[in-house]
Amino acid sequence: MKGFAMTAPNKVEWIEKEKPKAGPKDAIIKPTALAPCSSDIHTVWEGGLDLQGEIRILGHEAIGIVDSVGSEVKDFKPGDKVIVPAITPNWSAKASQCGFHQHADCLLGGYQFTFVRDGSMSEYFLVNDADANLAIQPDEMSDESALMLTDMVTTGFSGAENANIQIGDNVAVIGIGPVGLNAVAGAELRGAGRIFAVGSRPDCINIAKKYGATDIVNYREGDIVEQILAETNGVGVDAVVLAGGNAETFAQAIQMTKPGSTISNINYFGTQNYKNAGDILPIPRDAWGAGMAHKTVVGGLCPGGRVRMEKLVNVVESGRFDPGLLITHRFKGLEKVEDALYLMKDKPRDLIKPMVKID
Ligand code: NAD
Ligand code: ZN
Repeated sequence: MKGFAMTAPNKVEWIEKEKPKAGPKDAIIKPTALAPCSSDIHTVWEGGLDLQGEIRILGHEAIGIVDSVGSEVKDFKPGDKVIVPAITPNWSAKASQCGFHQHADCLLGGYQFTFVRDGSMSEYFLVNDADANLAIQPDEMSDESALMLTDMVTTGFSGAENANIQIGDNVAVIGIGPVGLNAVAGAELRGAGRIFAVGSRPDCINIAKKYGATDIVNYREGDIVEQILAETNGVGVDAVVLAGGNAETFAQAIQMTKPGSTISNINYFGTQNYKNAGDILPIPRDAWGAGMAHKTVVGGLCPGGRVRMEKLVNVVESGRFDPGLLITHRFKGLEKVEDALYLMKDKPRDLIKPMVKID
């Protein structure tokens, strides 16, 4: 079978591989729709994953049809339409039992696609622990929505969840690409008061407003700390979700919050994001109350697995949120994942998320 792989740092190409075979707990999936992720760009072109010379097929955002299952898989059968989360951990790992399945077996080890096995940009791909890592895509759910649940929605929502947003809290979401937009939606679902969406692209601002943003702060038109403090009578917000920006933005997040607030990061801090900061993310001393401001900084990889996906399906089926709005560019045919990936890399201003449909 063919797959679209990272064959070396900065290098992607089509390769031929054996079709994977399901072990007792695994499922083999034939993808019906795929999306590239900004994380694929970090992986290939920004040194995001050290594959130590391994050639791996890319892709971790997929929905598909079950092709075959292993002898111990109980709840899924060939022909089922499934949602495959980006995070498919080993659920019996100690970290999973401690509540951090994202780090099963090693740091970020819940992220198996590309990292420890081939990803989904191929004719078929393997999902470990199928009963715990697949969810059924309801017939009435659009492919667009189902596909966005796999990574963008679970990540954005986790940003809002980790920010510990309480009803009526004022929240800033910095960076409103697809992940940040889902953090806006997550903040709205958690009952935030004002939601400041920090961004500049008109299409993103449009969706941010649809998802619940009450205020738009343009980071290209002035200091965002000053803008947010001015809007909150100098007090600052109760929570910040970081879904874009760099080391300087991280420091600004701490400066725009009240004592007792939470700064929840879901952004990937690659070396290029550290801009003048070496390998250290700066915490401004004053805004930190010289260490006594009761501010919490938390950063996390998105939750995955079956139950998480089923809960997200529930949110969409209730009609309270439409993640399908994030798809701005559509492709048809597996071979188009290459174009979709390069589109992600080039990031035209009107791009939020591309989707590749496969027959
Ligand atoms: P994206 O690049 O589409 O969106 C980031 C947005 O931030 C862009 O719109 C960009 O214009 C904006 N931005 C850049 N600098 C800014 C600044 N100084 N202030 C405000 N906004 C600024 O990426 P995305 O797909 O939305 O993903 C966001 C981040 O989340 C990426 O770093 C990605 O790797 C990461 N990610 C994390 C997880 C996770 O599990 N934690 C999962 C998926 C993606
Ligand atoms: Zn991703």
